[in-house]
Amino acid sequence: MMANNAVSAQSIIGQMSDPTEADRQLVSRAYGFAATAHKNHTRYSNEPYLNHVTTVAYRLAEMGMGPRTISAALLHDTIEDTDVTAADIKNNFGEEILFLVEGVTKLSSVRYYGADRHNESLRKLFVATSQDIRVLLIKLMDRLHNMETLNYVPKEKQKRIASETLEIYVPVAHRLGMGRIRKELEDLAFPYVYPEEYKQVQTLLEKQLGKGDEVLERERKSLQKKLAEQGVTDFNTSYRVKGLFSLYHKLRRKQWNIEDVYDLLAMRVIVSTVEDCYRVLGIVHDLWRPLPQRIKDYIAFPKPNGYQSIHTTVATDHGNILEVQIRTRKMHHEAEFGIASHITYKNPNIPGAGQGWFSYLIPSLFRPFRTATDPDTLITKDQPHHAKIPKWISQIGQMYSREQSSGNEFVEDMRKDFFTHRIFVFTPTGDVVDLPIGATPIDFAYAIHSEIGDRTAGAKVNNKLVQLDTELKNGDIIEIETKKNAHPTKKWLDSVKTSLAKRRIRSALEQQSKSGH
Ligand code: MN
Repeated sequence: MMANNAVSAQSIIGQMSDPTEADRQLVSRAYGFAATAHKNHTRYSNEPYLNHVTTVAYRLAEMGMGPRTISAALLHDTIEDTDVTAADIKNNFGEEILFLVEGVTKLSSVRYYGADRHNESLRKLFVATSQDIRVLLIKLMDRLHNMETLNYVPKEKQKRIASETLEIYVPVAHRLGMGRIRKELEDLAFPYVYPEEYKQVQTLLEKQLGKGDEVLERERKSLQKKLAEQGVTDFNTSYRVKGLFSLYHKLRRKQWNIEDVYDLLAMRVIVSTVEDCYRVLGIVHDLWRPLPQRIKDYIAFPKPNGYQSIHTTVATDHGNILEVQIRTRKMHHEAEFGIASHITYKNPNIPGAGQGWFSYLIPSLFRPFRTATDPDTLITKDQPHHAKIPKWISQIGQMYSREQSSGNEFVEDMRKDFFTHRIFVFTPTGDVVDLPIGATPIDFAYAIHSEIGDRTAGAKVNNKLVQLDTELKNGDIIEIETKKNAHPTKKWLDSVKTSLAKRRIRSALEQQSKSGH
């Protein structure tokens, strides 16, 4: 896609699978609305802002998402960055698209704070906040384009955004099984977060790959020939070079010996049935000598994020060590697009599309605006297949459904979890502060800075004035009002939960009594 041209409405619609006239009209209308809203608005790169939202929308259409997700992608930055209000979106596009746009806007408030602690909880918060997998998919595509254009962003912001990508977006994409976007995000973020290491890995890789292309092409031909001889005709072969960031991690485990990284290059054989996968495995082992202990059957034993494939490492006749990955087309599609491959209509060959464990991620399902007639409607009423739910996801799902039904059950279940002990709240600029459950605005103020704590005069939670002893909840946005003559009182001591706040308040009270107040 050219940097200076916004993707046209026609080309976005062209990516959709069997759009109805109403679908086309909806997407065109959202396109026009976004174009007007962002008219005088440019990116750091000086290109029209519209290019950003149309690129995001295009990719979602390409993934097979439906007209409402695509429209929400076109509108995703309007509420946050333009004069457009929630009411405008609702009046023009209805409740469901507003829900998606607001979800994306709300997710922007989950920000990496710059410390490694509690990242896992931040990730959970990120997923939980999204409330709907479509929101998460828009946000991932939004981040992908932001990473692609990160070089235009002011230097001081680049590293924070790239670290956030590695710490939150990459693990989330990984756990949703979205291999392609994960690799793209990792390799885009890598040079900003670890510039030195990036150069080292790049140099090593170039040296190692060197003139390997011809040799590999020969290996591929001999495998193709052998497969055909054995009567396997319906297959594709391709190569993939390991992503730089994932290579970096492996190199660190292997004392930087690139010779010990066996999956630097992988040859992929994609067939149509599981049966064929095992046949191909036999043929590969007949052709080339397998390395012992290097056969991994992720078809029989899928990875926790659902990944399926057979991996084997072989030594070829030319002495190359090569990983061969064998999988069906369906597995391949799922490995690339993960959760998204389950919720699209684009690939009708995928059985079970439209239902599954991911429905746990969509509590909004039970909202009345759902209809059953388009690809945006992901969910059937069927119970998800419990055995297939990745644990990490199901925990979040349970957390949500429980929370909505019965408070007590929810607390019971989360007792062992971090969330029982900590909440995450935000500063007005979106920084995350974690506090113990039951914490108040005063705890928050002291967590920001002791001076702010000592001078706290009032607080707003989610834009509403509240008492200083109000209990904060996950996701609250807190604004502290300070006054020069404000000071801690004895009453504060009873309401705070953090020892930091208690200590500061006590010492301030002592000071006050010494100076005769
Ligand atoms: Mn955006």
